[in-house]
Amino acid sequence: MSEIIAAASAPKIGFVSLGCPKALTDSELILTQLRAEGYETSKTFAGADLVIVNTCGFIDDAVKESLDTIGEALAENGKVIVTGCLGAKAGASSADAGSLVREMHPSVLAVTGPHATQEVMDAVHLHVPKPHDPFVDLVPAQGIKLTPKHYAYLKISEGCNHRCSFCIIPSMRGDLDSRLIGEVLGEAQRLFESGVKELLVISQDTSAYGVDIKYRTGFWDGKPVKTKLFDLVASLGEMAKKHGAWVRLHYVYPYPHVDEIIPMMAEGLVLPYLDVPFQHAHPEVLKRMKRPASGERNLERILRWREICPEIVIRSTFIAGFPGETEEQFESLLDFLREAQIDRAGCFAYSPVGGATANDLDGALPEEVREERRARFMAVAEAVSTEKLKRRIGATLQVLVDSAPAMGRKGGIGRSYADAPEIDGVVRLLPPEKASKTLKVGEFTKARVVSTDGHDLIAQPI
Ligand code: SF4
Repeated sequence: MSEIIAAASAPKIGFVSLGCPKALTDSELILTQLRAEGYETSKTFAGADLVIVNTCGFIDDAVKESLDTIGEALAENGKVIVTGCLGAKAGASSADAGSLVREMHPSVLAVTGPHATQEVMDAVHLHVPKPHDPFVDLVPAQGIKLTPKHYAYLKISEGCNHRCSFCIIPSMRGDLDSRLIGEVLGEAQRLFESGVKELLVISQDTSAYGVDIKYRTGFWDGKPVKTKLFDLVASLGEMAKKHGAWVRLHYVYPYPHVDEIIPMMAEGLVLPYLDVPFQHAHPEVLKRMKRPASGERNLERILRWREICPEIVIRSTFIAGFPGETEEQFESLLDFLREAQIDRAGCFAYSPVGGATANDLDGALPEEVREERRARFMAVAEAVSTEKLKRRIGATLQVLVDSAPAMGRKGGIGRSYADAPEIDGVVRLLPPEKASKTLKVGEFTKARVVSTDGHDLIAQPI
């Protein structure tokens, strides 16, 4: 009972819908999305640019019919994406979802389970790029970006499951809502293809990615991938490598599983840069703040990260003068800053936010104390940071150029792996010594560090 759903002209997708009404609604969702994006459907396998087979895996006959249809589509067209219930089944050789289809038809382009419109669309985009009509489409393929063309933010989830006492984000944005991995990786791919050289992974709590959907398995490039931080970082790292681009991770809480991504930083898959919002170091204050991972031994963890990946740069934000913070607790925060050698630290003097539960805590400190602690914190943070920057003098760094008037003849501004845009320092590039050397926005240059200036490095392009 297969039917090829058809229409006319380019690019054309052949679509076979098999199985029950639930599968049919999945087919409708995919076809609607295809149509919305300007794809057309083909009456025949041979006349299509790609074929999607939505399969059924309920009874043996249905499995046979699905496998036969995939075989037919492969023989007549060659480019086939499989979705639906059969796509979720494991075969004899592996416990992985999708392995049954792959065992029978190894040349299919991608296999997804049911209810996977986005993953199917991601696979379609990869093999038959979305038609783009500049007269009709107001939105470019990679979406509208407010950042310069060469870097972009990739939001992997919305909301947060924590209830830090000073924060009202969960009451505004709700609980954690992770985007499926296939959707996130599809967006990353489009961004890299549009020329993005630095991808900044953001969320409220990057370490918790996927926890709300039980790390659901998605599909990317025909392979099952978990909606989980480790899999996300590994996949983004591989993708970035192909495009000669950077991946930078923000808002990573120091849970034990974060340790698993440090070797990927040491290998160079993603930038050895971690933005970890510690907010404080004293366990009592962290407890009153109700911080995630408040029981972790953060100092030991950081020291171990530095053993595995000595070049790692850690950025963090802190709060000074939280209600009930004693002088001794504040001093222990300063000790932490020195011992952990936090490369880039920002600090806010605590100030109550309407609706936050911290407002009800005892021990509110006068504004002068909060401000005075913030100033002392920043003095220590700057001493640590400046000292660390000085150690870079003489080193050669890869720098991504953000600004280079006149092809960089008068120098330019860029950033190294240690500098996230907007929040960290920059690398001030001197005019190149060789007349043939130019600097271009969005391209990398190597530069030798000659001196420092506050949070910035001064470097000679080479
Ligand atoms: S501060 Fe706490 S509650 Fe607020 S978004 Fe971050 S982790 Fe969630």
